[in-house]
Amino acid sequence: MSMFGKSRDLLAQLERERDDLAARLDAVQRQRATDLQLLDGLGEGLLAIDGNRHVVIANRRFRDLFGASDVIGRALSEVLRVSDVFEAFDRALEGSESTVQFSVRSGVAERKIEMRALPLPSSDSIAAVALFIDISTIERLEQIRRNFISDFSHEVRTPLAGLRSAVETLEANTGRLSPEDDQQLRRIMARQLGRLERLVDDLSELSRIESGDLTLDMRPTEMRKIVDDLVEDFADLAAQHRVRFVVEGGATVYADAHRLLQAFSNLIDNAIKYGGDDHIITISIREDGGAGVIRIRDEGEGIPRSEREKIFRRFYRIDKSRSQDIPGSGLGLAITKHLLLQQRGSIDVESEPGKGATFIVRLPKPVATPAGRSEASR
Ligand code: ADP
Repeated sequence: MSMFGKSRDLLAQLERERDDLAARLDAVQRQRATDLQLLDGLGEGLLAIDGNRHVVIANRRFRDLFGASDVIGRALSEVLRVSDVFEAFDRALEGSESTVQFSVRSGVAERKIEMRALPLPSSDSIAAVALFIDISTIERLEQIRRNFISDFSHEVRTPLAGLRSAVETLEANTGRLSPEDDQQLRRIMARQLGRLERLVDDLSELSRIESGDLTLDMRPTEMRKIVDDLVEDFADLAAQHRVRFVVEGGATVYADAHRLLQAFSNLIDNAIKYGGDDHIITISIREDGGAGVIRIRDEGEGIPRSEREKIFRRFYRIDKSRSQDIPGSGLGLAITKHLLLQQRGSIDVESEPGKGATFIVRLPKPVATPAGRSEASR
């Protein structure tokens, strides 16, 4: 073989080896990309450092949590200026695991982070790794749970106290009460029992709706029909309060008629309860673009601006209505809101305090699909 032939063979072999190496590198790169993708999919932030406290890996969640980009290769002290974090990594580099909590600002919000750092002695390039968990949500949920328990106990205590005092009066005066007093005490007991039952019913209804455990029978539904039925149902209560209804307009929406009736029933019940005696409740129904809109207006005390968002929270009642001794659990509007949200609707309130409140509900109109069925227009 000529010199020329030999060198050509060598060249070809070198080229093969080079291609082989490139393929291996590619495979390694690909594997690394998959590994990084896997890490990016983690719900927790992950940061790995080498023995010199330089960043080797930072997954997407870490970068999002701390608003950090381009951190690979940089010193830990440049990436995070939190002494707790340094100390936890120090301990990890010395061989022990540790957990710390600290707060960081992200925009206007403050986030509480839990960091778990551990040593990684078996790895060549990584000396320590840490997971960062945003525990703000857990803390918020814990706060909601505590509030719920205290609100619930508060709501239960009032009717329970009423029941206890009535029972004690009955016991202490057996055989000595006038028939009128006896009757009155029994009425009080029945009323307080009713309050407790309503509270439990409302609560279980709310938890069913909130858990999304609600099957909806969505179809084109005429709002006017529902309102006309309700006006009839409320005739007795309205007469007691000398309330007159004015109903106008109509619109077809895509909704569950039974659930809509439940939502409107709460709103009309409130308009009667909080609208004061001798007044008019105006219910107008219109179409507005892709939505059907119903406005339920009363002429009562109205709702101060600062309360307008709060009244949709569970158990929330404006103090004044408590003192007026209007029966209610404070759950009606929370239930109503969730019922409407699940039907892709919305609820708002407008009010000029002293002149009444208007609750405005919007629901999507139905549109016909090519298959001849209908669905929501939004
Ligand atoms: P409840 O009526 O059982 O107290 P809701 O959740 O239905 O509970 O209402 C929450 C609170 O919002 C009421 O306690 C009342 O203070 C206020 N509110 C609701 N509707 C009206 C209204 N139409 N006018 C004035 N205040 C209202």
